Amino acid sequence: MQVHIDRLRQGQAEKIALEASSDFIDIKEEDLSFSTPVSLVGEALIIDEELIIQLHVKTKAKIPCSICNKPIDLSIDIPDFVHTISLAELKGPHYNYSEAVREEILLQIPAFAECEGSCPERAKIAPYLKKPSAEVFPFSNL
Ligand SMILES: [Zn+2]
Repeated sequence: MQVHIDRLRQGQAEKIALEASSDFIDIKEEDLSFSTPVSLVGEALIIDEELIIQLHVKTKAKIPCSICNKPIDLSIDIPDFVHTISLAELKGPHYNYSEAVREEILLQIPAFAECEGSCPERAKIAPYLKKPSAEVFPFSNL
């Protein structure tokens, strides 16, 4: 996950299209892990002494359902990830943006996750969940 600064200095955007192993995220905990490759599609370019990396980032996180605790493959889809860094801060001819992508992916992890659609065990804890009001509940007319 590197861009070659020298090539960009010549005014050309560098296309990015790769599937990276999720190892760089480096989180393998019981309640959060990543095993699906990370898809990165976009480009890097330099505008006004800033390196700009624009990416569509996709992967999956494995987290437990907040209700039944079974593992869920949570889709992470970041269509408009943008990372900028001043050229003055760059050291060397390459810039590795994996840390920026990692941080953005981790920001997407919700505090509450539920089995796809609705957790089959939701009924058991329903009395403890806040009831959505009739006006905002989108499926009340089904
Ligand atoms: Zn569940």
